[in-house]
Amino acid sequence: MKSILIIIPACNEEKNIRPVYDALKEVSAPFSGTYSFQILFVNDGSTDDTIGEIMKLATVDTAVRYIDFSRNFGKEVATTAGINASTADACIMIDADLQHPVGLIPEFIRRWESGFDVVIGVRNKNRSEGLIKKMGSKLFYHIINRIAEVHVVPNATDFRLIDKAVVNEFNRFTEKSRMTRALIDWLGFRRDFIHFDANERLFGTASYSFIRLFRLAIDSFISLSLMPLKLAGFLGIFITLFAGASGLYIFLGKYFFRSEFASTFSDSENLAILLLFLVGILLMSIGLLAIYVANIHKEVIGRPMYVVRRRNVE
Ligand code: UDP
Ligand code: MG
Repeated sequence: MKSILIIIPACNEEKNIRPVYDALKEVSAPFSGTYSFQILFVNDGSTDDTIGEIMKLATVDTAVRYIDFSRNFGKEVATTAGINASTADACIMIDADLQHPVGLIPEFIRRWESGFDVVIGVRNKNRSEGLIKKMGSKLFYHIINRIAEVHVVPNATDFRLIDKAVVNEFNRFTEKSRMTRALIDWLGFRRDFIHFDANERLFGTASYSFIRLFRLAIDSFISLSLMPLKLAGFLGIFITLFAGASGLYIFLGKYFFRSEFASTFSDSENLAILLLFLVGILLMSIGLLAIYVANIHKEVIGRPMYVVRRRNVE
């Protein structure tokens, strides 16, 4: 019998624990002969009684497992802890607030059984999202898909199923600032997508503020791209070329071709161009340093060099 682990990160979700548990039990019941299900709650430093609700379930149902964090580490880390703990044939990650339709789980499993290693829930729309969050997320996907080494599918959520093979590879990531779904995307594997309409949150309020999402976006840019680091270098090249060409034009114009226009530049203007030229060189040097730092960064995060989907040699 294949085993499936359902991972639920939960922060201040005391009222949602029971409903999400009931909903999961209901969808998994018809499969009880085919799969063994376990539900793993990761309590991410809740300040309410989320852990109490989880423990209550755990005492009556041995399929309920939990990891209780010492404090809040964020959803990305909570999900990671769940994946790290998995020994199942597949994991399914789902939010505690029932925004992800639990009823789709059989479809996730069907796609997995048909040969996909990663099945990703893609959100059609989110009615409860404000304009700023919406525009922010649009901008985020636009930038990240320009500069990152992987394609990040817009509106792809954390509601996803991953095969054991993906779990094993995922466990090799060592970066501390991470965006779990982007790392899963980075891994590749055979992926399929399921579109869904997000529900309204059952109880409580979303804990991701705009600032927190912004920080997560910066973390993903840095984790998936070296572009920000190299920006100074590119700026330097641009400024040096511009200032160099202007300087040369003025110098040659003034002293060799006696051009009217070149002579109209005052001393301080010439000085400004000279300074600009030097700033350009400085920025280029920083860019050069950045290339070294980038290489050190790559080594330090120790990301796996490649990822194997299947192999028949050890
Ligand atoms: N969550 C978490 N740690 C946090 C914030 C959120 O584990 O620091 C969980 C939360 O309990 C929920 C999921 O992550 O199960 C999604 O969070 P939320 O609903 O606040 O975000 P959104 O719906 O805006 O994605
Ligand atoms: Mg939510």
